Amino acid sequence: MAKKKQTLEEKLTVKAESSWLAVDKKTEKKIFDFAEGYKKFLDKSKTEREVVTFIEEAARKHGFKPIASYKSLKPGDKVIITNMKKVAALAIIGKEPMEKGLKVVGSHIDSPRLDLKQKPLYEDTDSDMALFKTHYYGGIKKYQWVNVPLALHGVIIRADGKTIEVNIGEDDKDPIFVIGDLLPHLARKVQGDRKLFEGITGEELRIIIGNRPSTDKDAKNKFKTHILDILNKKYGIVEEDLISAELQAVPAHKCRDVGLDRSMIGGYGQDDRVDAYASLMAICNIQTPAKTALALFFDKEEVGSIGATGAQGGFMEYSLIQIMEKMDSKFRFATLKKALANSRALSADVDAGVDPMFKTVHELGNAAKLGQGIGICKFGGAGGKGGSNDANAEFLGEVRQLLNKHKIPWQYTELGKVDEGGGGTVARFLSEQNMQVIDVGPALISMHSPFEISSKVDVYYTYRAFQEFHNAP
Ligand code: MN
Ligand code: MN
Repeated sequence: MAKKKQTLEEKLTVKAESSWLAVDKKTEKKIFDFAEGYKKFLDKSKTEREVVTFIEEAARKHGFKPIASYKSLKPGDKVIITNMKKVAALAIIGKEPMEKGLKVVGSHIDSPRLDLKQKPLYEDTDSDMALFKTHYYGGIKKYQWVNVPLALHGVIIRADGKTIEVNIGEDDKDPIFVIGDLLPHLARKVQGDRKLFEGITGEELRIIIGNRPSTDKDAKNKFKTHILDILNKKYGIVEEDLISAELQAVPAHKCRDVGLDRSMIGGYGQDDRVDAYASLMAICNIQTPAKTALALFFDKEEVGSIGATGAQGGFMEYSLIQIMEKMDSKFRFATLKKALANSRALSADVDAGVDPMFKTVHELGNAAKLGQGIGICKFGGAGGKGGSNDANAEFLGEVRQLLNKHKIPWQYTELGKVDEGGGGTVARFLSEQNMQVIDVGPALISMHSPFEISSKVDVYYTYRAFQEFHNAP
């Protein structure tokens, strides 16, 4: 079929149409196959610790080995580095010397959730219920987390030092947990006058954990004692052990295809595990690149990238020092600084897709639409780009060229109208290392909710974008 001649307008203006239109049969299969792998990953990896475990297992299958197992490093060697089981780096040593710069893809693997308080368990004798108190993590709309089946994931460090892994609510035979909400019949006065964001308050996010008393005659707190008895028999723990624990309540549901056309994926934790998965698959599926490829998987982004496992911590720098020392025993700190200054980084994080019910928060000419490809975002921040990385036009040009060359659909996006709100990513912290950084990633609907929605075509092309970024000279 002869190609239709472009009109003048088509030649001159930005194309903005669904990426599905250009998808042929072969690519369609790749897109849907990739989505199946992604859904399995999401179902298995609901905490940062579980993501790190998944990354390590997948990387080992693709020839990556822990840094400690290498005496020295040469081009083509594949390295795994982790810290505190919550942050990870994968690297493939490139053919060029390190000081020529690296290609970095930085995503984050923590997601908004409900952490149990350190002294979580109590009983409410007015209702005969045992409950867990929570302290939410990250930016959530609290009312979204009631009446949602919850699973408990995490670790308990017992008094004897033993780590107990907890995972209840994922197996179909497991019980699940839930935060109740008031029936509408009686809610008019108590909740009706509250503003939406206070519809449920932080202290009202309490998880129902039991409704059966202990038969022990001496127990004063019969409902609490019954739960402690169950935990003791299952894990050998007492109440004090819960203080040295990290227990996270996360949505218990599995990922599902969304839409009659199955074009979308619904599930928990897609911010930012969609980028983490795409970045993992990309670095696992490239040949030895010219420049060293580095995939960083950060924790703590949702609370400001702080701490040893966040992007503001020393993890990236220390990882590179370990790598460079094994490449050259006469390693100098200045060489590391040179390598960073010559590096290019994609800050891989999700965008807000245009919400059909709340379009007014977006400036539609600069907003991402689900299905229009990977989003490129020059800056974020709030109040006049405050606190944001603002990518160089030159680097944006380079990324645009690369995506066009490989026919990877992309769109330009900003997070909402000017002064509507705002947000940040790890971009600013990577850019403080003196390298070129730009935000890229697929758009989501219902971001930070228990059930976020992405587009399969965007997810696949995010993976392809990261792959070609590493492949490029
Ligand atoms: Mn994010
Ligand atoms: Mn987020």
